[in-house]
Amino acid sequence: MHVERLWPDTRLRNYHYLVVCRETGDALAVDPWDADLVLDTAKQHGWQITQVLNTHHHHDHIGGNARVVAATGAKVLAHADAARQIGHVDRGLAHGDAIRVGRSIELECLDTPGHTMSHICLFAHAETPALFSGDTLFNAGAGNCHNGGDPAALYETFATRIAALPDATAIHAGHDYLLNNLGFTLAREPGNPAALALQQQLAGRAPLAMPVTTLGEEKHFNTFLRLTSPAIIAGLRERFPDLPDAPSPREVFIRLRALRNGW
Ligand SMILES: [Zn+2]
Ligand SMILES: [Zn+2]
Repeated sequence: MHVERLWPDTRLRNYHYLVVCRETGDALAVDPWDADLVLDTAKQHGWQITQVLNTHHHHDHIGGNARVVAATGAKVLAHADAARQIGHVDRGLAHGDAIRVGRSIELECLDTPGHTMSHICLFAHAETPALFSGDTLFNAGAGNCHNGGDPAALYETFATRIAALPDATAIHAGHDYLLNNLGFTLAREPGNPAALALQQQLAGRAPLAMPVTTLGEEKHFNTFLRLTSPAIIAGLRERFPDLPDAPSPREVFIRLRALRNGW
């Protein structure tokens, strides 16, 4: 499996991905907004885009569908419950469905509600396992719930779907928010050594030069994966005096998500 990360330079800092079978050159385009960039990149490398997959229905994740399909005849895949909003979906997906790309790639569809209630992530069973996490899990952060989402559902997704993945899983997120998110980590947990080191190391780096972090690394600097950290809980109790001494991970997640909204 080859993963090509594309940077269309949108104001929302989107990443696009081409997931390519090395044997056949068949490619799956994840969340295309900038169709030209996606099509030009595939053409340069001699890849054939045979499928487009949208992690969810927000415009910056589907805006290039029509032009990619017109140019390639690719099939569009998305959560079955997002098909009406996206339009022209050829295959509605449910949790556990398999998506094959060429001969060598099999991706597993994970139902991951929270950012929207019809969001999917793709898990690649490969030598280096990988997750295409859309707007659910960001590098050092979590998706917002402003546009049709629900923080409690997002917590359940983290607790059930994300927590079940191997630590070696490479996290390919829908946007480059890594540096900004590290700022939030340090606001909630000042002195977090992994966040401090990474912030220093990455300052000024171009988006395509940002590291692809693993889930195991995320557990050191992603606040939303550190729900039992005494420093995070102590800081939250200062902000929310009603929070009990030993809050549940769910309560901590929901308060963190609320604070992140206003950060
Ligand atoms: Zn979104
Ligand atoms: Zn997005």
